[in-house]
Amino acid sequence: MPGPASAHALQLDTPLRYLPGVGPRLAPLLEARGLSRVEDLLYYLPFRYEDRSLRAQISQLQPGIAANVVVRTQSFGLLRTRNGMLMAKLKATDATGVITAIWYNAGYLRGRIQPGQRLALFGTPEAESGNWHMRQPEFELLSESEAEETLAPQTREASLRLGRIVPVYESLAGNQLSSGRIRLLVSRALAGLPKQLPENLPDSIRSRLQLVSRREAFEQAHFPRDGSSLAELNECRGAGHCRLIFEELFFLQLGLEIKRQRVMRQPGILIHPSPAIREKLKQILPFHPTADQKQALKEIVQDMSSGRPMRRLLQGDVGSGKTLVALEAAVLAMENGYSAALMAPTQLLACQHYLVARERLHGYAVELITSQTRRGNNVNKAAVPAHAPQLWIGTQALLHERSGPHFSPALVMVDEQHRFGVLQRFQFLRHGERVPHLLVMTATPIPRTLALALYGDFETSTLRLSPPGKMPVITRMLPMQNSAVLHELMRRHVRSGRQAYVVCPVIEESENSALSPALEMEKSLRDALPECSIGLLHGRQEISEKSSVMQRFQAGEIQILVSTTVIEVGVDVPNATLMVIQQAERFGMAQLHQLRGRIGRPQPRGISPRAGEAAVCLLRSSPDLNPSAQARLEAVQNHDDGFALAELDLKMRGPGEFFGTRQSGLPAFRIAQPIRDQKFIELARAEARAWWKQADAAERRSMIAYMRSHWQRSYGLIEAG
Ligand code: ADP
Ligand code: MG
Repeated sequence: MPGPASAHALQLDTPLRYLPGVGPRLAPLLEARGLSRVEDLLYYLPFRYEDRSLRAQISQLQPGIAANVVVRTQSFGLLRTRNGMLMAKLKATDATGVITAIWYNAGYLRGRIQPGQRLALFGTPEAESGNWHMRQPEFELLSESEAEETLAPQTREASLRLGRIVPVYESLAGNQLSSGRIRLLVSRALAGLPKQLPENLPDSIRSRLQLVSRREAFEQAHFPRDGSSLAELNECRGAGHCRLIFEELFFLQLGLEIKRQRVMRQPGILIHPSPAIREKLKQILPFHPTADQKQALKEIVQDMSSGRPMRRLLQGDVGSGKTLVALEAAVLAMENGYSAALMAPTQLLACQHYLVARERLHGYAVELITSQTRRGNNVNKAAVPAHAPQLWIGTQALLHERSGPHFSPALVMVDEQHRFGVLQRFQFLRHGERVPHLLVMTATPIPRTLALALYGDFETSTLRLSPPGKMPVITRMLPMQNSAVLHELMRRHVRSGRQAYVVCPVIEESENSALSPALEMEKSLRDALPECSIGLLHGRQEISEKSSVMQRFQAGEIQILVSTTVIEVGVDVPNATLMVIQQAERFGMAQLHQLRGRIGRPQPRGISPRAGEAAVCLLRSSPDLNPSAQARLEAVQNHDDGFALAELDLKMRGPGEFFGTRQSGLPAFRIAQPIRDQKFIELARAEARAWWKQADAAERRSMIAYMRSHWQRSYGLIEAG
């Protein structure tokens, strides 16, 4: 059992508060960042490294190039600047020149440095009127001994920051734990741990892949040896990094594999497509499925009739026709006597699915469940016998139905999953004693690497072709000032019989109302285009109001719909072929792509697009965009393939941003980064699968116990399945 420990009796599991220098004040702050054991601190890696090993003489300094000099102090003092700040000023020399060092807000330096002392400085020198200056340099007091390298005894730990490759950490807990402080704590942790640390990777894998030991990995990642490649370290490709990244991904992939195996051991609910049912499907559908839709349905049928629970990801760009596939799967289930559930991320989308399903699926019980319908005004609730198979369509409110007496779908479909981010929760759904089939649909195309990281236990089907009749969408940037141009364009568009969307951001920090951009836009359009009928749609309306606005837009009574991003997903009004996106720079690339997926929808049968007609998406942005925003908008303008865009966005912004940080659903990686570490993900997956297959029962048990106690934070995944 870990307990109070001296600096020499630490274990990886020792609570951090027992690490000398942490104590009861810092411990809770670290805990809040998920660092509770010594091990957690060791997984907190530097975000970059600085080479401070090269020592220069003052005469060799070059402006702007960081360097390390050893000097003797001439004078040191604190001055108060005109604005009242305490500034420390040091003048020092070596055999070749003079240098001045300055620290701001430097009360903490009072009495620390004496004239005549030997000192090492590390910083970026600037030449000012012939004199060398360093601002805010790192410094270290040196002993008087002849050997320059020997540090004063109390500075053994200080040598962590000079004369070597130095790790730089992101500070923690506000600024209470600076990079320097973290460095010190990490070095104490390493000094206090045994020379041999218990290994957590199977030996066979470690030796085959030539991964360094755990101890070695931590040492090299925090305090690289002299002569290590700085470039390699900064790219997280040192031997220490490679091992730690692999390790993290290995446990993730093993978790997914274990989950997959558990699911696969469960009996699946048998859902078969008899010829009669196939015939029925054909009659229900308003059009011929595309080749991709057919293929996806075939794969779904194979899964659902395999005797094992389906775990399938259906991905396809916006407008590729996922809903149709979902409805087919639902009909299959219901024809086999089972219920199905379709979950959507917003009320609006749930509503829309509901309306489509009710229109297409004659003779089936379809029920809408959202938080509002559950509050008692479920106008659409169908009157069906209690045990007849049903299709429930709803928002997350569906999850609350779990306790409901007859809510037990045999097929659970989740639309636009990336917005939920909590796949686990759906997996708790049960069909009586059994696990339901699960189909996850996403229009945010997930690059293969991320799909593997996130859904390692899922098979994928992809819809690549758009259904016939889809119009091309032309995207252009239009500066915010050109309102007159915009109004004229919209007037002409409406006159030609088409409809338009105007999408405005929701600005939470705006003074009066988060909705003000939409409200203002609505008003200005009413003024500028009095002959057009204009509607307003936003997330704060009651569902009945939302659906009435949508229905009027669908029917063409509203010609221009001003809205917030509530229309982002799923909304389907083929006659709307112009979209104006206000303050486009406020949206992510994936989101912009989703939004423009609302226009250029396949035209209903019988109405073919007019010759040469294209849908138009205008990205309106402020004139002084920062370069990265400019680049994002240009990428959206120039690429219409969501998959390409997704890869690009991921590269430009990283996965958290790409999916919207809170919605990402990505496991919280400590070290790994899915894009950067793509190769490791695939390797880890192959190794994890192979290891699990050959492991005996005892090995498996102890691995699960280890993962449960040490990788829980990221991989609660295993539990949920
Ligand atoms: P998404 O994949 O974005 O959910 P939807 O399922 O909403 O796409 O389909 C996009 C549009 O394409 C809808 O208007 C739908 O009616 C239409 N559609 C779907 N499949 C076909 C098809 N096979 N042929 C013609 N139109 C189709
Ligand atoms: Mg959809």
